[in-house]
Amino acid sequence: MNVLLLGSGGREHALAWKLAQSPSMGQFYAAPGNPGIAEHADLVEGIPLSAHDSLVTFCRDHGIDFVVVGPEAPLVAGLVDRLDAAGIPAFGPTAAAARLEGSKLFTKELCKANRIPTAAFGRFSDVDAACRYVKEQGAPIVVKADGLMAGKGVVVALTVEEATDAVAQVFAAGGTEVLIEEFMEGEEASLFALVDGETVVPFGSAQDHKRAYDGDLGPNTGGMGAYSPAPVLTPELEARAIAEILVPTAKAMVAAGTPYRGVLYAGLMLTAEGPKLVEYNCRFGDPECQVLMPRYAGDLLEVLYATATGRLAEVTPSWFPLSAMTVVYASRGYPGPHQTGSVIGGLGEARADEGVLVFQAGTRLKGANIVSNGGRVLNVTGSGRTLAEARARAYDAIAKIDWPEGFFRKDIGWRLLGRPS
Ligand code: ATP
Repeated sequence: MNVLLLGSGGREHALAWKLAQSPSMGQFYAAPGNPGIAEHADLVEGIPLSAHDSLVTFCRDHGIDFVVVGPEAPLVAGLVDRLDAAGIPAFGPTAAAARLEGSKLFTKELCKANRIPTAAFGRFSDVDAACRYVKEQGAPIVVKADGLMAGKGVVVALTVEEATDAVAQVFAAGGTEVLIEEFMEGEEASLFALVDGETVVPFGSAQDHKRAYDGDLGPNTGGMGAYSPAPVLTPELEARAIAEILVPTAKAMVAAGTPYRGVLYAGLMLTAEGPKLVEYNCRFGDPECQVLMPRYAGDLLEVLYATATGRLAEVTPSWFPLSAMTVVYASRGYPGPHQTGSVIGGLGEARADEGVLVFQAGTRLKGANIVSNGGRVLNVTGSGRTLAEARARAYDAIAKIDWPEGFFRKDIGWRLLGRPS
């Protein structure tokens, strides 16, 4: 099978690494890819992921049998609809189904209509009514703008004043509607499931670390590290989340005439009353994917293709009895302004270690060197029989990388393993 993988981050490097192991893989292309992905696939240059027609033309010219979409933006923009219309199977939801990530209001209304556990909410299209509601409800309370905001559209307000300020900011920034949610208390975990219409198959759990610095301090980021599985999501809680949240969602999407196909990533809050939905994402997490892939024992191409072509029920995913941890090596200054173009040494030594994979994200080739080319640059990933072993491998490997312009958190996994001394 000839495959085109779309994306250029650590998530896509992890997918490429695993897809390339499939016995069914034929010609393997990636657009735009990165130097890590180039070890597994031929890179396609010059076609942006927003150029849907050009992507279809590339698929036709190169006999592509299957497209795997990594990031959310092309999904929300309807790339899979375009590929469907051209008769090219693709992994990922249609634009209508990707609203589960693209519109928080859509998802909240779907939860309400189907009694899916999530935070109670109100939606307002005028500042005064929104502020009155905030005052009635009191703090802590959560203020959200609608749409894809790259994690910047949410304020968890500890005071009423902070919340009313956040409401004002949403409208000042041109927002037409604001969502105000009850504050849910608990530990967060990510649950992944492959979904093909009403078929929902659990596909691993993880916990990530959003803040930039040790001790969960500093600004929010795309994620500084993750581990899988998430022991806090016990088999009982996972079964409840599947039965009470994901299955009713999949059924509601089918009933609405917009069946979901792809990976559905549920951000869960494990509250005293049980798991509740924080948000959905319509693709694998980054960096969560980097800890799922080393654990996956099956043929990834087979299961993704089955999901995309309505045959998910015929495949049973299988997992190695391993834990995995990834540590993100980021450019100094990230998520704020940072320099790019600095040389990264020691990659060969790091990845030679047993149980270690180094997934590349923001990198590029400059002559014979790998240089930094973004905020999050490497995902140093360890696997082992225990999470402690996975962590030791990840941190031993990252110590071998010579990149003075980078930084990483030293406490990934602290909730389970404690803080480093
Ligand atoms: P991202 O996709 O980057 O996680 P986002 O913009 O889609 O962010 P959400 O996931 O909805 O936003 O919220 C971001 C974070 O805010 C959550 O991971 C959670 O920590 C916190 N949060 C959101 N809603 C609530 C809530 N109702 N109660 C408590 N915390 C919340």
